[in-house]
Amino acid sequence: MSYSYEAPVSQALFDRASRVTPGGVNSPVRAFQAVGGTPRFMVSGTGPYLTDADGREYVDLVCSWGPMILGHAHPEVVAAVQDAVARGTSFGTPGEGEVALAEEITARVAPVEQVRLVSSGTEATMSAIRLARGYTGRAKVVKFAGCYHGHVDALLAAAGSGLATFALPDTPGVTGAQAGDTIVLPYNDLDAVRAAFAAHPGEIACVITEASPGNMGVVPPGEGFNAGLKEICATGGALYISDEVMTGFRTSKAGWYGVDGVRPDLMTFGKVMGGGFPAAAFGGRADVMAQLAPAGPVYQAGTLSGNPVATAAGLAQLRLLDDAAYARVDAVSAEVRNLVGEALTKEGVAHTVSAASNMFSVFFTDRPVRDYEDARKQEAFRYTAFFHSMLAQGVYLPPSAFESWFVSAVHDARAVERIAAALPAAARAASEATA
Ligand code: PLP
Repeated sequence: MSYSYEAPVSQALFDRASRVTPGGVNSPVRAFQAVGGTPRFMVSGTGPYLTDADGREYVDLVCSWGPMILGHAHPEVVAAVQDAVARGTSFGTPGEGEVALAEEITARVAPVEQVRLVSSGTEATMSAIRLARGYTGRAKVVKFAGCYHGHVDALLAAAGSGLATFALPDTPGVTGAQAGDTIVLPYNDLDAVRAAFAAHPGEIACVITEASPGNMGVVPPGEGFNAGLKEICATGGALYISDEVMTGFRTSKAGWYGVDGVRPDLMTFGKVMGGGFPAAAFGGRADVMAQLAPAGPVYQAGTLSGNPVATAAGLAQLRLLDDAAYARVDAVSAEVRNLVGEALTKEGVAHTVSAASNMFSVFFTDRPVRDYEDARKQEAFRYTAFFHSMLAQGVYLPPSAFESWFVSAVHDARAVERIAAALPAAARAASEATA
């Protein structure tokens, strides 16, 4: 497809980057490969807006893939960071900020009796799985196709269809041995989970699931799915791990736990709790967490874990996230969802706006999407046209049809109006797109 607008400075930066960095980016989806065109190199962000290296401003509907729930450069978060930075950037010792952040997390999310801070969501899920294996003395891990838990070797596996299929590694570099203890099942299918436990009695250490998936587009758990997982795990002697890296402190004050109330054994967090800095966490039942070094034998560590600047940013952001802030995020999300649905309906484009609390995405199909197989059946080529039309009109959407959209508490009327103004042409572009 051809693009009706130019981004010469971003293109020059991308060319430069491609010489020194594989694919020109430090995380694959940023390269725009799913939609084509020039990835925008951003130079600044304020509130709901991003400005790229060519000087163009965009309404941001990615929000750094979730963390920026208070918008960019929130003055109070910036002040907390400046204050922390001025006192030193890393000590390699314990500090009060870590304690305060852990207290904030445990106060918000009741199942988290104890929490360990790490630096990325990947580290959090990797460590939670190690802990589950150490605690249970079992090897196998159940995950769901279409759920992303970071680039942990054992979790970079997605099987073909079928019950309890042993996973093949999804990427070169992950060995059969590393993926061999991973069982990949279709999402929203409790019978498949029961069958896996029946086939492997006493072998499954844990089931890990996104609390409400946002990495195959937004596909919420069906009624009773998470509760069913919890029960199957409890009966089968396995731990139920809810990955709230994306949903945590976003879908409510207590994340997805605050929405469905199903009590996991372990939980993982990232994104919002770091306030835009590398901070993440895993936590849960005190008796399980007590197995972690130095309290227990399961080793886990990190030079920058609980970094004072990252914890200051995260703490400042969480303390600002009160009921009013969540009400605002929910309201903006509903408004944008309605506008998108109306525009696509008007142009006769088959679509489903799929929401889980304030997270949402658009599938270009009118058939129900309950799992990864369903998600993949959408007409993703329509998203490409839609995305580029929005981008050309100054709205920055996720550069893939299989990602959640994110709004912030500072997406105000002006930002929403700009989205509304861009939608008719984008919906038309989607309707006219060809595969
Ligand atoms: N888990 C979930 C649900 C995620 O969405 C992500 C990242 O998008 C991760 C884990 C990995 O987090 P990170 O990218 O910080 O390693």
